[in-house]
Amino acid sequence: MHERMQRKKEVVDAKVGAAGTARGLFLIHTGNGKGKSSAAFGVLARALGHGMRAVVVQFVKSRSDTGEEVFFRAQPDVRWHVMGEGFTWETQDDAKDAAAARAAWETARQALADPTVDLVVLDEFTYALKYKWLAIEDVLAAIAARPAMQHLIVTGRAAPKELIEAADTVTDMVLVKHAFQNGVQAMPGIEW
Ligand code: ATP
Ligand code: MG
Repeated sequence: MHERMQRKKEVVDAKVGAAGTARGLFLIHTGNGKGKSSAAFGVLARALGHGMRAVVVQFVKSRSDTGEEVFFRAQPDVRWHVMGEGFTWETQDDAKDAAAARAAWETARQALADPTVDLVVLDEFTYALKYKWLAIEDVLAAIAARPAMQHLIVTGRAAPKELIEAADTVTDMVLVKHAFQNGVQAMPGIEW
C-alpha cells in the first residue's frame, strides 16, 4: 500500500516537474469574431499589475481616440506606437502601406530585441504578412531570437500557418453574432 502511494507520488511529481518550465510565451489571437485586440489589452493590464514593462505596436491605425490608447498611454510602463500617418487598408496605395508596415516592423523588431521589455503586443500584425509587406522568415527569426522571458502577443484575422506553428498559445475567436450585423454603430467603450 505504502509502495503504491509512493509510486503515485512519483508520477504526480514528474508531471508537476514537467509543467514547471518558465519562459516567455508567444500568443496569437486570430479569427473573425470580436475580442482579439481587447483580449491582448486585457493581458497587458494583467502584466502591468505584475510590474512588467510593455511595448504596443499597432499596425493598422484606425483612430487615435480609442479608450485603450488614452488609458495605456497614461501608464508609465507602456510605450504605445501607432504606425505612420494615413495608413488604413483602404488607402489603395500599396507602396505607401508597405513602407508604413516596414517602419512599424522596425519599431517592433527593436522591442523584440530589448531585454528590458517584458511584453510586446503587435496589434493587427497579421495583415502586414497577408499583404506580403514583410517577409515571414524575418519575422520568425526576430520572434525566435527575442529574450527568453519576453512574452509576445500577435492579433489579427487570418494568421498565417507558419506563425501559428511558431506560437505557444493560439486562440481562434469565432464569430457567432455581432451587433454591427443589425445596424448598430461602433459603440465607444465596447468597440473602440
Ligand atoms: P476588439 O478590438 O473589439 O477586441 P477585434 O480585435 O477582435 O475586436 P478587429 O478585426 O480588429 O476585431 O476589428 C476592429 C473593430 O471591428 C473593433 O471595433 C471590433 O469591435 C469590430 N469588430 C470585430 N469583429 C467584428 C465583426 N465580426 N463585425 C463587425 N465589427 C467587428
Ligand atoms: Mg483588433
